[in-house]
Amino acid sequence: MNTVLISGASVAGPALAYWLRHHGLTPTLVERAPAPRPGGQAVDLRGTAREVAERMGVLDQVRAAHTGARGMAFVNAEGKRTATMASDTMGDSGGVIAELEILRGDLVRILHEATGSGVEYLFDDGITSLTQTGTGVAVTFERAAPRTFDLVIGADGLHSKVRSLAFGPESRFAHDLGAYIAIFGTTQREDLDGWQLMHTVPGRTAGLYPTPDGEAKAMFVFASPPVEFDRHDTARQRELIATTFADDGWEVPRLLGDMRDAPDFYFDRLSQIRMDTWSDGRIALLGDAAFCASPMAGNGTSMALVGAYVLAGELATAPDHATAFRRYEEEMREYVARCQKFALGGVSSLMPKSRRFIRMRDFTMRVVPHIPGGARLFGDLQKLANTVSLRDYRPRSLTSS
Ligand SMILES: Cc1cc2nc3c(=O)[nH]c(=O)nc-3n(C[C@H](O)[C@H](O)[C@H](O)COP(=O)(O)OP(=O)(O)OC[C@H]3O[C@@H](n4cnc5c(N)ncnc54)[C@H](O)[C@@H]3O)c2cc1C
Repeated sequence: MNTVLISGASVAGPALAYWLRHHGLTPTLVERAPAPRPGGQAVDLRGTAREVAERMGVLDQVRAAHTGARGMAFVNAEGKRTATMASDTMGDSGGVIAELEILRGDLVRILHEATGSGVEYLFDDGITSLTQTGTGVAVTFERAAPRTFDLVIGADGLHSKVRSLAFGPESRFAHDLGAYIAIFGTTQREDLDGWQLMHTVPGRTAGLYPTPDGEAKAMFVFASPPVEFDRHDTARQRELIATTFADDGWEVPRLLGDMRDAPDFYFDRLSQIRMDTWSDGRIALLGDAAFCASPMAGNGTSMALVGAYVLAGELATAPDHATAFRRYEEEMREYVARCQKFALGGVSSLMPKSRRFIRMRDFTMRVVPHIPGGARLFGDLQKLANTVSLRDYRPRSLTSS
């Protein structure tokens, strides 16, 4: 057991490659984008995930790329703040926005650099078929020549190709969260001073957060039954958002205007991936591919980093891959279950059914963090972020499995 093909070079993939190489295995990454993808939304690093970054020697770089986030505030239609929560209100990982937030593209770049020149990357390519044999996995690619690897790991995100090839269609594992999300680049009309602003009316939330380049990202989340349209038809998606938010106040009209021409428009249905097992023979899943909690408030980046550390460590120390995959699941299951449960509450608080709920949410946010035991009512994110304690994996030479 030596060669490992990893599909997806965002967060989980390069982190896994780093640790596999650290343990003396030989990872290859295949990524459909032509290069490490820049930009993207802000993601936070919480609890144990920071320790993984520290052990990789990249924590200082991550800190240097911090978005400057200082917290989150809800605003009413006139822009008046109705509730605020600073990033460090309930510990460094306990706030709705963590004290350490970074643009996903910056994290991807840092992780890519950390894997070093010794890791093979196949950019602009993807897996087309996987065939398990007794001793390996035969893989065909869109562009590269066919090859056989000892193991294949799908770290290719919510809509994982490896998962669909090896485990079945996405519909079997995706639990619909009843909402759509859109994110795109915009500007700050006034200096946001590190604050993410959110405006909620029943059924939907519009948001705005600053990015380190002095610009901003706009975000729209709204409850909706699934609407039939082509996943690539962004004109219809923009239209759906414009119609849904047409009557809203605050900065929404300006943001809808900016959305029309935004080149980095991202749109997806919110869903959670739930699977009974993350491996089948010599193929396993990691990150959003295995356990996406929700693109919003789901600790996805932290789970991806911690999962990469654990999976690589188990592969390096277990007597065979089956044992390693089993132990990886045992280590990660509770953490994942808690993050997924937390995500459900986070999503529903952004599309509440009534104005009364909005008032209660704002009141809770203003008051509860400051009373003893209040963090528990927010899902105790600080504790959740530290669910997994990192073991010190001391690899030994692995014989065939
Ligand atoms: C809008 C949005 C907001 C988010 N906000 C937060 C947040 O605040 N906090 C947080 O912790 N997390 C957040 N997340 C989630 C976070 O981005 C993910 O949980 C995290 O990036 C998971 O990493 P991953 O490597 O598993 O998957 P991804 O980052 O999704 O990466 C998958 C990679 O696989 C590649 N790929 C896809 N298909 C193929 C294929 N067929 N062949 C080869 N490569 C392929 C993709 O190009 C990509 O590079 C957010 C996500 C989104 C979309």
